[in-house]
Amino acid sequence: MAQVVVVGSCMTDLVSCTTRLPKPGETVIGHKFFIGFGGKGANQCVQAARLGAKTSMICEVGKDSFGNEYIENFKRNEISTEFVGQTEDAATGAASIIVNSEGENVIVIVPGANLLVDSEDLKRAADVICKAKVIVCQLEITPATSLEALKMAHASGVKTLFNPAPAQADLHPQFYTLSDIFCCNETEAEILTGLPVGNPEDAGKVGSLLLERGCKLVIVTLGAEGCVMISKEDPIPKHVAAGKVKAMDTTGAGDSFVGALAFYLAYYPNLSMEEMIRKSNFIASVSVQAPGTQSSYPYRKDLPRDLF
Ligand code: ATP
Repeated sequence: MAQVVVVGSCMTDLVSCTTRLPKPGETVIGHKFFIGFGGKGANQCVQAARLGAKTSMICEVGKDSFGNEYIENFKRNEISTEFVGQTEDAATGAASIIVNSEGENVIVIVPGANLLVDSEDLKRAADVICKAKVIVCQLEITPATSLEALKMAHASGVKTLFNPAPAQADLHPQFYTLSDIFCCNETEAEILTGLPVGNPEDAGKVGSLLLERGCKLVIVTLGAEGCVMISKEDPIPKHVAAGKVKAMDTTGAGDSFVGALAFYLAYYPNLSMEEMIRKSNFIASVSVQAPGTQSSYPYRKDLPRDLF
């Protein structure tokens, strides 16, 4: 039985590298193209699985070659695909990305099948959701579906880890009250609260505002600075610093962090939250030292033993 269940998105990243971004109507010749596996839900599930979590992904892909490839990707990562639906009504979610030599990009995301994850999918997976240790949700599928999944899990005493990404200023208030752990980055924290977040002190302030909205525990990730946590039990913000590393590509670091945290919540529930965050910081900091998103996520066998 899966201990970590993710209800969320999968996207195929189609990445073209060029010296400069094309203007409207212009064609430019790129020098490199690659296809990557992305989508916040899938990324988080893959990181948890690579640390050794038994995981199940609840999502929708299209009945197309990208959908088939994505299912194979889940299988290679030993993620249960029992509740991965394949629909004929939309294409697999795709992100077309153009990156120039300065690292600037333009991105078009077409959510496609991700927006078709619905109550029926949740009903089919009800047993797995309600018997999990941890459920993880984000906002790349229809928010009402994420909310329903959190409600089902909460009602069964399953720990809920919610990542409000991409951020929405008018987030439904129940997302706060249904989150055991509410984990956002600086930008998301700013959009949700209207307050600027530039340092750990600011993060503590937005954290306490988010606690007032009903979360039990808030984590604000701060890139190279690590994160700040604050909880109802201990309303004094705590900065948990990340180790100093040479970052190569930080894409998907937030998802690596959330996936790692889900793993620790499910498998090491007796660790203090600070210790879980410290270990998750370490894992996410490993991911920034390699290129790509899922391709940069470390496996348990390659990590120091004292993380387990
Ligand atoms: P992304 O959108 O790129 O997935 P994010 O903005 O959601 O990332 P961040 O706050 O940038 O998430 O990073 C998440 C975690 O990754 C941090 O809390 C930290 O543990 C780790 N991390 C990110 N960047 C660095 C870095 N330069 N050095 C060390 N650790 C990092």
